[in-house]
Amino acid sequence: MIRVQISVQGIVQGVGFRPFVFSLAAKHSIRGRVLNNTLGVLIDVEGEQSLIQQFIDGIKSNSPPLSRIESVHISENLEPVNYSEFRIAESASDGKPLAPISPDIATCEDCLRELFDPNDRRYRYPFINCTNCGPRFTIIEGVPYDREKTTMRDFGMCDSCRDEYVNPLDRRFHAEPIACALCGPRLSLTNSDGSAIAFNTNNEKDLIRHTLLLLLSGSIIIAIKGIGGFHLACDALNAEAVVRLRRRKHREDKPFALMARSRRSEGGAAGSRGDANRLRRHAHRGYARRRAVAQNMLRVDVSVNTVRTVKSFFVSSLR
Ligand SMILES: [Zn+2]
Ligand SMILES: [Zn+2]
Repeated sequence: MIRVQISVQGIVQGVGFRPFVFSLAAKHSIRGRVLNNTLGVLIDVEGEQSLIQQFIDGIKSNSPPLSRIESVHISENLEPVNYSEFRIAESASDGKPLAPISPDIATCEDCLRELFDPNDRRYRYPFINCTNCGPRFTIIEGVPYDREKTTMRDFGMCDSCRDEYVNPLDRRFHAEPIACALCGPRLSLTNSDGSAIAFNTNNEKDLIRHTLLLLLSGSIIIAIKGIGGFHLACDALNAEAVVRLRRRKHREDKPFALMARSRRSEGGAAGSRGDANRLRRHAHRGYARRRAVAQNMLRVDVSVNTVRTVKSFFVSSLR
């Protein structure tokens, strides 16, 4: 039996690296521990030499899709300590913080599926995320990347979320921003002075609908807080609202982004199928989260002057 320490640097925090190492260690019957430190991820393992070699090869060749390994340093010939199991250990925060931080990641297909599944406990929960997606850069205040070093620390996990968080077989194993409607951030709608806008139901799910009604009720601009900043929205067919937004943004004639529900309405908005295809190419996967929250609206870039179908989208979404 040998013992080695493997130090992995690069984008390896907040991308499911520790759960990945955990599963790989189980596969190769390797004992030890993995932890985040200020440089990246440190793995300390014991096992048969050939298995450890396969383990190291696996780390290099099968690392999680969102990770980017820049270097792997291996320290050999260490004194065995007879680990009895493999576990994810507490992060080590000594040393100069050098680990690069992952960007925010668009909602993954698995989360999108749950988001629209009425039987899922996160049905229509706008802050859904998992090890493979969700906020990172926006919420991280320091490394090593742990919930305690993110703005999520104020949200104590409910039992169901904690069960997922500690289950190595779960997609949310050690997903630091894990949340649900019971324990995580909630939606709210306020005036510009911060006071809550009352509406006739306490059902949070109706809040988006209420927001759409507000948008259609006049030259109102609504700031929708999302990952990484605010999204300013208005009724694109309300000339007064658009002028107001242009004035506030100091954006005299540059086109705004447009949201449309479907390819068909997007095509109508763009004027022709060719234009729609061209615009669609600009619609980036990175907008998937907003798209999900807004019930599959597709983001395209187009001059507001060519919009003819946005209103029909808003109206149809209210039915
Ligand atoms: Zn996800
Ligand atoms: Zn929860």
